[in-house]
Amino acid sequence: MNFNELTGRTNTHLVSIEGNQMLHIDTVSDFLQLKSRMHEKGIDIKIASGFRSYQRQRTIWNEKAEGKRTLRDAQGNPLNYNELNCDEVFQAILNWSSIPGTSRHHWGTDLDVYDYTYYQTGRRLRLANDEYSGTGPNAKLSAQLYHNEDLYFRPYLDGKSYQVELWHISNTKVSEKILKQYTIDIFKKSIESDPLLKLKEKVLAQLEPLYNKYIALNGAN
Ligand SMILES: [Zn+2]
Repeated sequence: MNFNELTGRTNTHLVSIEGNQMLHIDTVSDFLQLKSRMHEKGIDIKIASGFRSYQRQRTIWNEKAEGKRTLRDAQGNPLNYNELNCDEVFQAILNWSSIPGTSRHHWGTDLDVYDYTYYQTGRRLRLANDEYSGTGPNAKLSAQLYHNEDLYFRPYLDGKSYQVELWHISNTKVSEKILKQYTIDIFKKSIESDPLLKLKEKVLAQLEPLYNKYIALNGAN
């Protein structure tokens, strides 16, 4: 993939699926296979969020950096923006949101998924871990995902980078190939080339640890 594809600045690597969602073209057959395996278990897997563009991620990031969008602690509780210093704001954003240009959703290989069975009557999907465990509506889906890691794995299960996201799945084969192409130079170029990115100097000042923690260490192995 080229620089623009790796950082969400184009959609040349994508195809549309399920109406308004977009996936990496090389992952469509794997997703359909996952869907059919889930169907056999009585689960109607649907995409809440597939590809996300650079611009969209920057809007989320900048709004959080400016206190226009809710910041949350590691447990998901809302934080008071006015009580936080700059470092704390930066960390609070990184609990739940990627630095623009680094989101795996840019690749089209990563999806936030849920079991439509329980939402067709209008129940609201929050994308919270309690919906995916215990007696939650997506618990069965979450349990089944452990048996399908040949197709899709979950990069955020250990809480070592972003907080645990039981709903976030990643195409195992294609994302591993892409991760190898996503070097620290790509990261650096992406940040440096955006004059509108908030907290830009903070990112550039700790490029290597951020790269290791939020990008390089989230592979399938
Ligand atoms: Zn996600």
